[in-house]
Amino acid sequence: MKIAENILLLNGAGMDSNVYCVDNEVLVDTGTGSFVEQTLEQMERFDVDKKGIEKIVLTHEHFDHTGATNEFKKKLGAEVLAHSEAEITEKTSISEAFEGDFVSPDIDERLEENDKIKTSNYTFEVLHTPGHSPGSIVLWDSEKGVLLSGDLIFTDGFGRTDIPGGDEKKIKESLRRIKEFGDISVLLPGHGTPASKENIYDDGAIENIISQIQ
Ligand SMILES: [Zn+2]
Ligand SMILES: [Zn+2]
Repeated sequence: MKIAENILLLNGAGMDSNVYCVDNEVLVDTGTGSFVEQTLEQMERFDVDKKGIEKIVLTHEHFDHTGATNEFKKKLGAEVLAHSEAEITEKTSISEAFEGDFVSPDIDERLEENDKIKTSNYTFEVLHTPGHSPGSIVLWDSEKGVLLSGDLIFTDGFGRTDIPGGDEKKIKESLRRIKEFGDISVLLPGHGTPASKENIYDDGAIENIISQIQ
């Protein structure tokens, strides 16, 4: 599905995360690995040139986002990037909860706060936003108001913190940072339906979400 200018939403089936393809250059998250073939088929349907994908960015440690990393890396010949604090092990990926066979993702480059992910049409800033997990990041294009939020925030809620590595206080701080952006025009979350100004996603919506935290 085409979600925003030059951004496709792929996968999101079963327990898998959403997989976004930005500008035919960057893939954000990979899913568990159960739907790799279907995701590749979707790419073909949308005329994605697989050789054009240079980077796979992992928003955080969890298996529903990282399980298919090595498979996509091999099939696309892309580099894998994740935050320096995203230590992805069998335990931190909670692969057991997804009934997945853990394979350690082969990461080429570590991201830090304020790093930039540039594509033909977007310049995303990397923000370290822990709380759902220690190595959670969001990608924010302030000029276009496009936020790839991983499992920090969804259209109608926020990521779980009652799992190993989760921290309620930290997620609240991270959500407050997002709220300060003020002008998110397109929210591309790790699960569920994306949101935009047309379906009323503003800082009031974020405040509502923050108020759900004790
Ligand atoms: Zn997830
Ligand atoms: Zn997660």
